[in-house]
Amino acid sequence: MNEHLPPIMTHIADRLKTIQDTLATLNAEDVRLIAVSKTQPVSIIQQALDLGLRHFGENRIQESYEKWPNLKDRYPDVKLHLIGHLQSNKVKEAVQLFDVIHTLDSKRLIEKLAPEAAQQHKNLDCFIQINTGEEPQKSGILPTEADEFIEWAKDFSPYLKIIGLMVIPPAQEPPSLHFGLLRTIAQRHNLSCLSMGMSDDYPLAIQLGATHIRLGTVLFGARL
Ligand SMILES: *Cc1c(COP(=O)(O)O)cnc(C)c1O
Repeated sequence: MNEHLPPIMTHIADRLKTIQDTLATLNAEDVRLIAVSKTQPVSIIQQALDLGLRHFGENRIQESYEKWPNLKDRYPDVKLHLIGHLQSNKVKEAVQLFDVIHTLDSKRLIEKLAPEAAQQHKNLDCFIQINTGEEPQKSGILPTEADEFIEWAKDFSPYLKIIGLMVIPPAQEPPSLHFGLLRTIAQRHNLSCLSMGMSDDYPLAIQLGATHIRLGTVLFGARL
């Protein structure tokens, strides 16, 4: 069926088909698939674009600038999602290139990001990252501080629309508790979006309410 495509593209096409079949089985065709293209070269991203994917996730500003400005010119309907920690000295570049920020994780960051978004007249959809595992090495708001933080952030700026919460569960724990906790916190604040679920656990995340899944390996294969 795909014999006219180069072999690696067939792989991505096959993997995408498997993911889409899984989403269909879960009645989850509406769940937003974010193709996590960090470390992937433009040639691979091009293949995902050719397959119709338009939502991409990157975690580093510098790398994103090496890959995306040209692609975004050629594909104006691409939406770029920042899924890695944003340093407050890179907010200008982030606002220029990204459409959705999944990693709001401090008041300081929001206080820098909001005036920059206003300056650039750019509305950003945002998630607040919650550190449900209370891991010291991980970014995100602690669950005990989440309620106060979310209410503060929601009213901070019309340019930063807080649409939901994001989590990266601890690697060594069953993710279901973390997905459940994220959902509980979001419901308390009437936030409708949940960015949760990666290659190893996205069907479970969907069953627990994910609206945005972030898939790298299961779509592109192992990262280089
Ligand atoms: C790399 C990354 C992903 C994708 O991980 P896979 O296991 O390859 O699907 C998702 N979310 C975040 C925040 C990441 O950094």
